[in-house]
Amino acid sequence: MPIPIQKTFTYSVTEAEYEFLEKGMRVAVSFGNTKMYTGLVFGLHQTPPELYEAKEILQILDEKPIVNTLQLQHWEWLSSYYMCALGDVYRAALPSAFLLESETIVYKNQAFQNEDILNDEEFLIYEALQHQSQLTVHQIADIIQKNKVLPIINELIHKSAIYIKEEIYEQYKPKLVKYVRLHAQYNDESYLEPLLEELSRAKKQREAVLSYFQLTTSKKPIKAKDLEEHSGASSAIVKALVDKEIFEFYHVQTDRISYQGDTNELKELNEFQLQALQETKTSFLEKDVTLLQGVTSSGKTEVYTKLIQEVLDSGQQVLFLLPEIALTTQIIVRLQNYFGNQISVFHSKYSMNERVEVWNNVLENKSKAQIVLGARSSIFLPFSKLGLIVVDEEHETSYKQFEPSPRYNARDAAIVLSKMHKAKILLGSATPSLESYFNAREKKYGFVELSRRFGEIQLPSIELVDLKEKHRKREMNGHFSDVLLKQIQEALDEKEQIILFQNRRGFSPIVECKTCGNSPQCPNCDVSLTYHKFKNELRCHYCNYQRAMPNSCGACGSNQLDTKGFGTEQIELELKELFPDYNVGRMDLDTTRGKYGYQKIIGAFETREIDILVGTQMLSKGLDFDNVSLVGILNADMMLNFPDFRAHERAFQLMVQVSGRAGRSKKRGKVMIQTYNPYHQILQQVSTTDYVEMFQEQLQDRWQFHYPPYYRLIKITLKHKDYQKVDAGINWLAKALQNVFHEHVLGPSAPAVARIRNQYIKNLIIKIPPKQSLGKTKQQIAKIQNTFQAVADFRPIRFIIDVDAY
Ligand code: ADP
Ligand code: ZN
Ligand code: ZN
Repeated sequence: MPIPIQKTFTYSVTEAEYEFLEKGMRVAVSFGNTKMYTGLVFGLHQTPPELYEAKEILQILDEKPIVNTLQLQHWEWLSSYYMCALGDVYRAALPSAFLLESETIVYKNQAFQNEDILNDEEFLIYEALQHQSQLTVHQIADIIQKNKVLPIINELIHKSAIYIKEEIYEQYKPKLVKYVRLHAQYNDESYLEPLLEELSRAKKQREAVLSYFQLTTSKKPIKAKDLEEHSGASSAIVKALVDKEIFEFYHVQTDRISYQGDTNELKELNEFQLQALQETKTSFLEKDVTLLQGVTSSGKTEVYTKLIQEVLDSGQQVLFLLPEIALTTQIIVRLQNYFGNQISVFHSKYSMNERVEVWNNVLENKSKAQIVLGARSSIFLPFSKLGLIVVDEEHETSYKQFEPSPRYNARDAAIVLSKMHKAKILLGSATPSLESYFNAREKKYGFVELSRRFGEIQLPSIELVDLKEKHRKREMNGHFSDVLLKQIQEALDEKEQIILFQNRRGFSPIVECKTCGNSPQCPNCDVSLTYHKFKNELRCHYCNYQRAMPNSCGACGSNQLDTKGFGTEQIELELKELFPDYNVGRMDLDTTRGKYGYQKIIGAFETREIDILVGTQMLSKGLDFDNVSLVGILNADMMLNFPDFRAHERAFQLMVQVSGRAGRSKKRGKVMIQTYNPYHQILQQVSTTDYVEMFQEQLQDRWQFHYPPYYRLIKITLKHKDYQKVDAGINWLAKALQNVFHEHVLGPSAPAVARIRNQYIKNLIIKIPPKQSLGKTKQQIAKIQNTFQAVADFRPIRFIIDVDAY
């Protein structure tokens, strides 16, 4: 059952049904008094349950299993390792369209017109939805014959006549590339002469038009960027031609589900890539898991493609895992250029039908789904013959799911999945997680290194700027040091682009009254509200609460309000004043939320419409721009002072990754890091890109303070709206755990933001020493959890277990 209950339930079937059913088929069943769910056949047996009477199933929903036995095995591992209900895994694994239940809410698809294709029963439901904007499956069951409702709703979804509630969030938005063409009025060639005549005074515009005609001889669509490059015209000149209605812009999406372009041959590897490929293959002879550490822009992707090709040739499937956000960018296009329609993309922002389609293609091992490119949830797809899994940017935190259960790490779950398939798995990163690198050192994983950038371009030079000194010498202009400004100006003069990194969005994180020191807080969370200047708003970054920026202090009435700290918005504003003749763009959660937001910014930066791009850590995710010569990190200190045992490792990874965006194709790039602590060991290690030194130093700390990879961590979180309840609960729990685990229990403690959405939060961490049995520890924790939840007073408290909670 897709519910948070560990055990399975027995239902009764007829003999004929018994013959027909197989593990992994779905059945509609009733549960409790009125609820209907989509259950999954987990086993067939002849033993009636002792504690309850087996109900009959309502209906069989599949003709063939939609989940295979390897998946079921993997789910059982997930449930046991991450201490969560099998039902939670089942719910997370299947696209929601597969999981209709009585509470599911159904809507009419307003765009649907094709009523002729509906049969009578389907039309009945469709019509009911014309009168009522939404119906639950339960209500629909009352309209037609009750037991048969799920297949009919399924069919309606399949025909796109209706959709279900979970799907209202934004649909996946493909990336748009800007192309240019002649305005329709010049389709007739006889207008060309007069046109060129007309432009005889605007020399540059005329050249751009002539260049356009040269480019058209290739008969391919012309990218705005290519035209600029070919003609030497600036984007302003092309834009002027568009304004004159001589050219027009149009946008083409480059990563639609079905790829229509030609495919290209794989690139030829250089000697270092070839060696890495060879070493990887050798490593795979002995080790199923291999870590590929390749510096930024070393061409890891090209190495992956060769391995992928070989696995495809052997008739096996490939899973290519990427962090969620990287999926909306360039890599899809790059891989499609090679593998065309053998690639399916699986993305949480895809529409329900698209996800169901990918699921079915993988299930049937269709040619379209030989390679699946996906974010973490794609480990749940019904692969039957996986030969290779690639985990790109394996250090990325977005592989970990924190909420809701199952709280799994997709990289680790993928390693287990690869074992079940007897497949190989390649973890790739320029800055591996400490755990993976440790495993490689311990020879648990194979290890391959790619230490040169493609094209023999050197890694960027990294310079630390001492902010304390700059302030003292009055060499700051806003948040910019004179040296950073000078570098920005130089890059702009060279027509190169710049990336500036500030890992905080908004204008400033704190508003403070100069008179009484009060600062506006979120009413739902224990955190200050962030000031967003463009909208003149205060916003909570935890629960999204927003209100207008007040004119005066809410506590004392003084109108002297001060802002403290700075975010991307402030930097963007300062830049616009400092460099009024250039285009400044901003990439953070606020600017990428809307329709096409992310793709538009990436596209505009790629086509060089944006000269300086300011952004948060979104900028570090595997982007490949060829004209960025300078990367600036405005304030490195916040990352270093974050209260988390991985803060230093993360800061290193983030800064090296962001730096890696500089100087990827032509000349050596430059990175400037502004900081109050230029002698901090992590900054020193970043400035020399010394991963090994960082690793060794961090490892010592981890050993000394009992953290992974030596100790394992299980985190228990309690949440409730009543503080007293949470407090009493956590104290009871701490005692119970200390009785068993003694000094290995850390806490109780409140997180930095101790109340979110009106829920108070308290944590306990259990550290598991190297030799202690993980299985037994989990059993003991589960037992204590049971006792805890048997106490009536504690029962309403949310109890969250997070295994490997980092
Ligand atoms: P990484 O993922 O290691 O940061 P990429 O795979 O993105 O590096 O490669 C960096 C750039 O170098 C890309 O633009 C890519 O097209 C180019 N490149 C890498 N290998 C080759 C090759 N063998 N031939 C041509 N271009 C390559
Ligand atoms: Zn005040
Ligand atoms: Zn809030």
